Amino acid sequence: MKPTLSDKILNMSTSATLAMAAKARELKAEGKDIIGLSLGEPDFNTPDFIKEAAKEAIDQNYNSYTPVDGYADLKLAIVQKFVRDNNLHYSPSEIIVSTGAKQSLANVAMAILNPGDEVILPAPYWVSYSEIVKLAGGVPVEVRTTIENDFKMTAEQLEAAITPKTKMLWYSSPCNPSGSVYSEKELKALAEVLKNHEGIIVVSDEIYEHINFVGTHTSMAAIEGMKDRTVTVNGVSKAFAMTGWRIGYIGAPEWIAKACNKVQGQITSGANCIAQRAVIAALEAPVSKIQYMIDKFHERRDMVLNLLGEIDGLQLNVPGGAFYVFPNVSNFFGKTIRGKVINNATDLSLLLLEEAQVATVTGEAFGAPDCLRISYAASEEELKEAIKRIKEVLSEA
Ligand code: PMP
Ligand code: GLU
Repeated sequence: MKPTLSDKILNMSTSATLAMAAKARELKAEGKDIIGLSLGEPDFNTPDFIKEAAKEAIDQNYNSYTPVDGYADLKLAIVQKFVRDNNLHYSPSEIIVSTGAKQSLANVAMAILNPGDEVILPAPYWVSYSEIVKLAGGVPVEVRTTIENDFKMTAEQLEAAITPKTKMLWYSSPCNPSGSVYSEKELKALAEVLKNHEGIIVVSDEIYEHINFVGTHTSMAAIEGMKDRTVTVNGVSKAFAMTGWRIGYIGAPEWIAKACNKVQGQITSGANCIAQRAVIAALEAPVSKIQYMIDKFHERRDMVLNLLGEIDGLQLNVPGGAFYVFPNVSNFFGKTIRGKVINNATDLSLLLLEEAQVATVTGEAFGAPDCLRISYAASEEELKEAIKRIKEVLSEA
């Protein structure tokens, strides 16, 4: 018998965001003039004050294995950040630092899910949620939201999706990919439903917390009755332009934090020593230090919405945060452009890559097959040129 891969891996999709970014990189290397708007990655450099902290850490010989749950002083900085930004009071034993928020999410899934446990994912959801849940033996249960409701799940939809097997609800706010921001009122309505279902744990992914143009960010754990059953996920990749440094973290009830510590202790150990020292500087700094990046994203959001608004056939919501627009492109389905039939968002995304040389990500990967994700974490020049090219191609429909 031939050696084979595990069913788990065979049933797993490749990350569509990373796959598209790799394809765009490949085409660029071949000399094609590709504009990459597929990856959710700030185009800024990590701020100097953070880089300085990393340089000092190297000189101070931070080179040994780190505690599995993170350096004690980083955990304290995280505790204080949660108080400052989220009115959340965690103790250090409720904080776990990981190699990116992606690992935080994987830890939580492995720590909580038994085979067959259901996880409610309001769709669109971030690509990796469904695959992480499946890898941990869980069953993703998509709840389709609508552009009319700004891609947010209502209390009624949540109630209808709950079954005796529901173990968790995972969502991000601001949302990747829709940019939607749940208000306190909306979260309270969801929390009200959960009151009658004690066994459900919420994973609130707040990695885009600071990239918020509506002004207020509400953490699910700050809603009355929710802290004991919520895992708050956050990280420095987005707001601090630190994607490659790979640091994320959770605030969670101690029993969950301990279980994540156990998982991480067997799989990767503590996160990188230098990156952790740098993140202390990032989190201790006032948010005003990174405001210039948030302001830029805000300007770009407005510019991109204006320019895309000139293209017939795209339906847009106004994203309140993150750095994505998520147009519904179903008006183009069934049409033919440059000899290529567009049956779905994946076809359209490929058409734009080949004919406009612009890399986007199909909504299919986010549980929203009518949509396309465009990241505006790119320069104004690139964004203008990309949208000009998209417009040219789509005008031929
Ligand atoms: N959650 C969301 C919603 C994201 O967009 C990302 C981006 N990669 C992550 C988690 C993971 O972030 P990281 O692993 O870089 O901390
Ligand atoms: N979160 C980013 C995105 O959605 C980074 C890529 C990834 O980790 O999937 O594009």
